[in-house]
Amino acid sequence: MFDQSGGLKRRSNGIAERKQMVMTEKKIGELVSMLTLEEKAGLTSGKDNWFTKAVERLGVPQVRTSDGPHGLRTQAGKINSLEENASIPAVCFPAACATAASFDRDLLYRMGEALGRECQSTGVHVLLGPGVNIKRSPLCGRNFEYFSEDPYLAGELGAAFVKGVQSQGVGTSLKHFFANSQEHRRMDASSEMDERTMREIYLPAFETVVKQAQPWTVMASYNKIGGVYSTANRKYLTDLLRKEWGFEGVVTSDWGATHDRPAAVAAGCDLTMPAEDTDHLIVEAVRNGTLSEEALDACCIRLLKLAFRAAEQHRENIAFDYEGDHALAREIAGQSVVLLKNEDNILPLAEEADVAFIGPFAKEPRYQGGGSSHINSFKVVGALEAAEHRGVRAQYAAGCRPDGETDELLLAQAIEKAKQAKIAVVFAGLTDGMESEGVDRRHMRLPEGHNMLIEAVCAANPNTVVVLHNGSPVEMPWVDRPKAILECYLAGQAAGEAVTDVLYGDVNPSGHLPETFPKRLEDNPSYLYYFGEGGVVNYNEGLFVGYRYYESKKQEVLFPFGHGLSYTTFRCSDLQLNKKKLTEGEDLTAAVTVTNIGKRAGKAVVQVYVAPEKVEMIRPVRELKDFVKVKLAPGESKTVTFTLQKRAFAHWNPTVHQWRTESGKYTIQIGENAHDICLEAEVQMEAEPVPPAGGYHIGIPMGEFAKSPKGRRFLVENIIYMIKGMAAAGFIPKEMAAMLEQLPGGVNLAAIDMLAQRAGNAAGGTGGVQVLLGQPLGMLDGFLPQEKQEELHKLLAELNQ
Ligand code: BGC
Repeated sequence: MFDQSGGLKRRSNGIAERKQMVMTEKKIGELVSMLTLEEKAGLTSGKDNWFTKAVERLGVPQVRTSDGPHGLRTQAGKINSLEENASIPAVCFPAACATAASFDRDLLYRMGEALGRECQSTGVHVLLGPGVNIKRSPLCGRNFEYFSEDPYLAGELGAAFVKGVQSQGVGTSLKHFFANSQEHRRMDASSEMDERTMREIYLPAFETVVKQAQPWTVMASYNKIGGVYSTANRKYLTDLLRKEWGFEGVVTSDWGATHDRPAAVAAGCDLTMPAEDTDHLIVEAVRNGTLSEEALDACCIRLLKLAFRAAEQHRENIAFDYEGDHALAREIAGQSVVLLKNEDNILPLAEEADVAFIGPFAKEPRYQGGGSSHINSFKVVGALEAAEHRGVRAQYAAGCRPDGETDELLLAQAIEKAKQAKIAVVFAGLTDGMESEGVDRRHMRLPEGHNMLIEAVCAANPNTVVVLHNGSPVEMPWVDRPKAILECYLAGQAAGEAVTDVLYGDVNPSGHLPETFPKRLEDNPSYLYYFGEGGVVNYNEGLFVGYRYYESKKQEVLFPFGHGLSYTTFRCSDLQLNKKKLTEGEDLTAAVTVTNIGKRAGKAVVQVYVAPEKVEMIRPVRELKDFVKVKLAPGESKTVTFTLQKRAFAHWNPTVHQWRTESGKYTIQIGENAHDICLEAEVQMEAEPVPPAGGYHIGIPMGEFAKSPKGRRFLVENIIYMIKGMAAAGFIPKEMAAMLEQLPGGVNLAAIDMLAQRAGNAAGGTGGVQVLLGQPLGMLDGFLPQEKQEELHKLLAELNQ
């Protein structure tokens, strides 16, 4: 991309103007060859907390980075602070926990575009986000910054966001690569998991974003993976990310995540951030031959490409549109609200309804999480203020202390207000202190004061609505009490406006949960292992993360993944597949019609799941493979089509280390959520068999051997030797062997099956031949004449190729 650009046209970050220099690969290479060893080493670490180093004598510009992901945390001018509140006033958009609930790629793209423009206006070249780590447990302190428990959803939304930001000539940093799903011991814990879990759960979101959107940078996480720090992990940074996925950009360390500078460079971690006084270690390592200069040059080439690309694409005179972006933040938040329940259609409220807003969050919403993503919002609008703006006069009572602690007097006042009003709306959730980067929660409960408040208000007023602000699932012991519940997540600085837009029906809720809300923490599949021991975290639940576990285990949950109601009703009908049979690698097209059968315009989210029949591999009962959000007027129908490609059916096969598909039946399901399936259709897959774990040898059951067409042919042709041998040895009646030989088709598996079944050999519904096929191949081998034995062993060797 940088090849086609016109070079630097204007001053950038104090670097002298460069005349129309086209930064081709060749020129970058030439520049690198002109750098001294010290300059090269210097390039691989930051200048300070946010900038990379320039090389003024060669006109190499510096790059300015800024957090991210859902707003700018940029230090103005020369301020070089890591402090959260030292940043310029900016717009706090909804955090990823909320935007994920939109299930809306376009919305994420638009949010990215706006952030890209904000970056341009403040001279930021790279925005540090998005975070696409998997929400393994509701306890992770950073869940609010991540999208989902589902890698497909996280990858699609992350890619849309990156495309949006980068469409504005601003880079992103895809983080935190990878297996960084907890904050407890985040700087040193080692995430340990099997290859399949890694490929199917913890890597795909990164893979999707890299392949679809080429983020300018990827941020290597703090943790270790399999005992090796992410920043020093060549296997993942170079072999996987670059060579296998084709990542072209720069890998930066998370802030302070490099422990061994030369090892980082050797692994392909180009940049260590922030600044540290360790560049001499690189120089020494190159001089003493423990680090190759080629590896250092490779990092410098990538860093120079980034620096020139950033400078070339920087635009002057872009205004920071505070109010415009605030309005966008409001729209996005509104599109992300999830209506969890709505008994008696209590929502939407009438403007003139006599309401009481209760809870400290009604005034001061909890709208963002703590830590490096904390935005210095230029304004924040709470629900009470937003209600006033629209002319609604809501009574207010705090009901508990701001930190969520119970207060008898405040509670009594709230009960009084609730009794007086026709409708009570309780604003509850997790407080700032409960949810932040750097620390995991230890339980999944709301603050005691919020739980008590909800119970008390529900007892005082049967028409109670609960509005939740939290970055991760919470237990709801009171779930049956209020008539309606809105999950608003951490909805950004326009949270209050977005909530009232939904409460009063200007916005019809269309959000869906991007994660399961279990009934209790103990139900979560990672519960027993989550924090790990001694800094080693075994991901023992493997593939069974989130709904993959709850659905496969038939575990009842509070609200399933994908759940979300609307003020209207949608119906899906007429699911059509373009094929009944599929061969591995072929696309399948599914079409489904969705109709708004209610009285309000609204947006439906059509969720497509693929449910594989159980063959050999252990697989989750269903997995999300596509989704789309559709806007429909009352009575309107639309037909949407999905193309399911190879990966939608595949599993990562740890024997051959590839994505492979098993032959068998796959059910395409349209779900209201991951639990409630409304339509389904089947397709039969034909695929090359996967070699058994450990390869083909005479110790495997004959049935495994028969899965390969050549093996099956060999068995059909040669089973006669075994039958005769067994008859001779008296294992089967001689008459039966004789009968078999007289059959018109001769001895083959079908004939054996037929006879065995007739003889009443079928045990537990298993055909006779299946009993036979359960025997080791070595048994057949023992009965074969020598030339046939040789043929078998040749075939085994061939199949293992
Ligand atoms: C966080 C990153 C963040 C960086 C810079 C780190 O502590 O993990 O997400 O981008 O700091 O603030």
